[in-house]
Amino acid sequence: MDELKVKALAKINLGLDVVRRREDGYHEVRMIMQTIHLFDQLTVKKIEKPEITIHTNMSFLPTNENNLIYKAAKLMMDNFDIEGGVDVDLKKRIPVAAGMAGGSTDAAAVMYAMNKMFDLKASREKLMELGVKIGADVPYCIMRGTALAEGIGEELTSLPPMIKCPVLIAKPSISVSTKFVYENLKLDENTVHPDIDKIIADMKSKDLGAVCRDMGNVLESVTIPNYPIIDDIKKKMVSDGAVGAMMSGSGPTVFGLFDDKKTAEKAFASMKESGLAKQVYLTDIYNTRWS
Ligand code: ATP
Repeated sequence: MDELKVKALAKINLGLDVVRRREDGYHEVRMIMQTIHLFDQLTVKKIEKPEITIHTNMSFLPTNENNLIYKAAKLMMDNFDIEGGVDVDLKKRIPVAAGMAGGSTDAAAVMYAMNKMFDLKASREKLMELGVKIGADVPYCIMRGTALAEGIGEELTSLPPMIKCPVLIAKPSISVSTKFVYENLKLDENTVHPDIDKIIADMKSKDLGAVCRDMGNVLESVTIPNYPIIDDIKKKMVSDGAVGAMMSGSGPTVFGLFDDKKTAEKAFASMKESGLAKQVYLTDIYNTRWS
């Protein structure tokens, strides 16, 4: 096999809580991670020279060692006996720096592809163990599906699959720095923490209404006052029929969950027309794990 096309799937957070700030500056989190069927398309090719080359449709993305694709390919070449190198073509659709683990999922996809193409026979667990060296979200992107992420996001527990439903994604044209969000997060007795265990119980009982009622993202307490457009998008999704809407990760992407495809399609068209968001996608929950 000299060439492999792979989908690098995005994630949303159905719950995001920050438990505490550690002495080393990292934050301890409890997050419910969920894969959705919005993806970057990667074409990975074997090349003779032991090099890593990257091409992408997004001119502002790095194509050198700063791209997580490069880091992933290098990690595989350093850890396994690989002859030659790889050329990767990235068709980016996932909003960048937007709370959807776009870079991490590209890294995961390259690791998966190289494992197959070079017949390395590394287990999923082994790839996950290596992937954390690139970033805390990479092991989850290798695992996929519904999972609880704890620690700094790298301690994963697989959860029963989330109810399949249409998901509307809207990313406004603002940039939100993850660093700014965490630095400005106030953790005190007034902080409203989402009840992550309750959301998990709602998912287990397949109750979409309850999931939407209980879902919460503690980081909205920083982003919404600073970027009111996030709340405008959430409100529009709900008034257009979403059962619930919330910001993913540290934002600014907002997702809406729907119990009916027709309503979701109308909300999708209306969001595009509104001009509130620069990138708008209609997709759904994706639960198949990587084989
Ligand atoms: P979060 O971790 O909050 O979900 P994010 O994953 O949405 O954030 P990315 O899309 O991964 O954020 O982008 C973060 C930064 O990483 C960007 O500024 C970009 O320049 C850099 N980057 C490196 N490689 C990639 C890649 N393959 N895709 C996207 N961004 C990349």
